[in-house]
Amino acid sequence: METACHEPTIHPYFRHKDVYVLWCVYCDNELSDRTMKAILLADIKVDLYSTDLPPKPAVDVIGRYYTTDTCSCQIRDMACTKCGNPVGYHVVLPCANCLESCNNGHFWIFHQHTTKAIQRLNREGSNVLTWGAMEKELEAERSICYDSDDVCR
Ligand SMILES: [Zn+2]
Ligand SMILES: [Zn+2]
Repeated sequence: METACHEPTIHPYFRHKDVYVLWCVYCDNELSDRTMKAILLADIKVDLYSTDLPPKPAVDVIGRYYTTDTCSCQIRDMACTKCGNPVGYHVVLPCANCLESCNNGHFWIFHQHTTKAIQRLNREGSNVLTWGAMEKELEAERSICYDSDDVCR
């Protein structure tokens, strides 16, 4: 499995993007509190939300592996674990083309029509949180963590 303790490696281009909190449109289950609004490269009319961390247990992968016409990424659909409705897909195994292109490292993708999204605010509630600012907040939390408890192994 992936280690939970990786360096923040977010591409500078994505740092100014807003963080969105997502809910399942069918049952109001909170799916993720750190997603980014993205555009599907294959179809710029489609809005998507993506996240870098597995949004479990709110969401789980279902069904078979498949690929699309666009590339050879191995994909599985994912569903809300509370109501069972499909809410997006997970790129299980990105293809070489996608890894080489400027991607945001987000392999958990939510469809816009299956989710409700609200921009997340910073701690003070004064501004919309950006990915760059969120990384900073997390870094500050991590350094506190290190002193009290060795959470990263
Ligand atoms: Zn691909
Ligand atoms: Zn649901």
